[in-house]
Amino acid sequence: MDNNTRKLLNLTDESLVFEENWLSREARHHRSVNMISGRLVEPNKQCPQCGFTECVENGTYQTISQLPEVERRPTYLKLKRERYLCKNCGSTFSATTSLVDDYCQLSKQLKYQIAFDLKENRARKEIAEFHHVSENTVQRVLMSFTNSCQPNYHSLPTALSVDEFSSTSSCHAGMSFICADAQSKKIIDILPDRRLSVLVVYFMKYSRKARLKVKFLVMDMNASYGQLLKTVFPNAEIVTDRFHIIQHINRSFNLLRIKEMNQLKRHDPIEAKQYRRLKRYWRLLLKDSSDLNYKRFYSLKLI
Ligand SMILES: [Zn+2]
Repeated sequence: MDNNTRKLLNLTDESLVFEENWLSREARHHRSVNMISGRLVEPNKQCPQCGFTECVENGTYQTISQLPEVERRPTYLKLKRERYLCKNCGSTFSATTSLVDDYCQLSKQLKYQIAFDLKENRARKEIAEFHHVSENTVQRVLMSFTNSCQPNYHSLPTALSVDEFSSTSSCHAGMSFICADAQSKKIIDILPDRRLSVLVVYFMKYSRKARLKVKFLVMDMNASYGQLLKTVFPNAEIVTDRFHIIQHINRSFNLLRIKEMNQLKRHDPIEAKQYRRLKRYWRLLLKDSSDLNYKRFYSLKLI
């Protein structure tokens, strides 16, 4: 399979190996389907338990995952997944791919397509028929994306990430609240209201033991959620997350750059040149200095 075909089919994962005759037509569930066959390998062969790198092959097993349809025909990916044995610690593991979640029959791409269709307010039955899946599958995808299961009020992570985001107009001030496990990145809950009083009531539903477990509250610099520490998470301290620090630095740096630009006299040819450079190479100024290629821009004598 050449690179362009891989891109077209979204099979760019380098762990996938395809032979010359990778496509066949097969009958599946009384329908003719596209069957793409390949092999899934682990290029590094590194043991996830101990980090040993010279693991040996230990047979294969076959999985079949459903991909988004191609040319109105259901399409499946049949993979021979390689298994490996670690000679150091004796554990076995198999090759994985980012295309499919473990123990799941649908590819991530197909799940996203179903989720997008659900957003369009189409009937579940119609979506199921369109993607050649059962209505139950559509329901499961909906559940996995909306996190509609009840949160566990007896458990909270050590590092809790909180933030707000603009959502539907039915929410208070059009803003919602989201909290997630900072380490596993798993969403814990989404609330339609970000006001402190509502949040206190919400978090008080968690057991005292669970709340005491929270050691770090990760948030942006402007948020007023610090108040939650006193009442809800007495053992926690506030951590400003990296994303917001970088965002803040970038914004401040850009404001400074624009301020400097505006002080330059544009009728003066030398200053006008400096103005153009500051305006044109803004990306370059934000770049990590270790990533800069000095040779390439040397002749420009950038400021
Ligand atoms: Zn090992």
